[in-house]
Amino acid sequence: MFETKSPSTNRISFYIGTVVAIAVTILLIFLSVNKALITVASISILLLTYFFSRYIINEFINRKIKLIYKFIYQTKASKREEFYQNKVLPQKNLDEVGEEVLQWADQRKAEMEMLEKNEAFRKEFLQNLSHEFKTPAFAIQGYLETLISGAMDNPEVSKKFLINAYHNTERLINLISDLDEITRLESGKQQMHLQHFIIQDLVTEVFDALMIKTESKNIQCRIKKGCEQPITVYADKEKIRQVITNLVDNAIKYGNQDGHVEASIYKTDNQSVLFEISDDGIGIAEEHLPRIFERFYRTDYGRSRNIGGTGLGLAICKHIIEAHGQIIHVRSTPGIGTTFGFTLSRN
Ligand code: ADP
Repeated sequence: MFETKSPSTNRISFYIGTVVAIAVTILLIFLSVNKALITVASISILLLTYFFSRYIINEFINRKIKLIYKFIYQTKASKREEFYQNKVLPQKNLDEVGEEVLQWADQRKAEMEMLEKNEAFRKEFLQNLSHEFKTPAFAIQGYLETLISGAMDNPEVSKKFLINAYHNTERLINLISDLDEITRLESGKQQMHLQHFIIQDLVTEVFDALMIKTESKNIQCRIKKGCEQPITVYADKEKIRQVITNLVDNAIKYGNQDGHVEASIYKTDNQSVLFEISDDGIGIAEEHLPRIFERFYRTDYGRSRNIGGTGLGLAICKHIIEAHGQIIHVRSTPGIGTTFGFTLSRN
């Protein structure tokens, strides 16, 4: 088989030395010089050319390669790198160097792609953000303007407009506090206060806290039969309360009148617990499921906005669960209902 790799410096020098030595030998044979002299001269020329070529190649080509290495590592060479450049690098052939440069280029390409993705993500986030703020802010401005330009004289209309302005202010406040929460979670600065607690007790507390909302839609909240046996988990209780509150709140918001919300808890092994909240509401179409945990992603913008959603609830849940090193998932069928589930550690 032919060797496809570029030869090393030593080999190239040896080839050059051999070619020059053969040429000189042939010349000396033509000139009828005596055999002993030809042998001495050929060996000397071979050695001289070999060392000379090696010196030239090392000086010029390897110096250029070292420059490339310095460029791709971008930093001042550490002692190790210097050793690498002086001792290891000269042994490398051009193919190996080429491969490393290609690897470096691939790495840079991946980095650039990630930066571009982040940039697109940032732009989309800012666009969403300004849209989310604009809608309630303009609505408040509209109600106040109408009141100032005369509607104030009609007590019924002014009460209605003030209530509407108040609801929009509430939306802004919800948005700001959700944003604040998600920023703190994303910065990773929030400390976890891990403790042991009984998950069934926490669910019951959340059901009680949301009673006004469930009663207004006549939704029954319960713990699934067979899951009442107390199970202790080890997690940040207040953060998990927030997750369960968001999930139950969604189950109510997107649930039907006279519907049901059910919590189920299963021990999956000695280490973990699977917690699920199911509803029999409108459900989520399959194409939305992969994006449902993204910030501001909604399946129905109008509906979410009308019921006071910020579009950040599920993103916050995902952050909290992932900060516990656990996973959150969703299953849903339109018209049948939705189940959100997450795992928790037992110890
Ligand atoms: P929002 O404040 O809009 O409720 P979330 O992040 O909590 O924001 O939810 C994102 C979207 O996921 C909602 O707008 C809704 O379209 C969908 N969704 C969440 N929970 C449910 C559910 N239980 N049933 C149906 N759709 C849901």
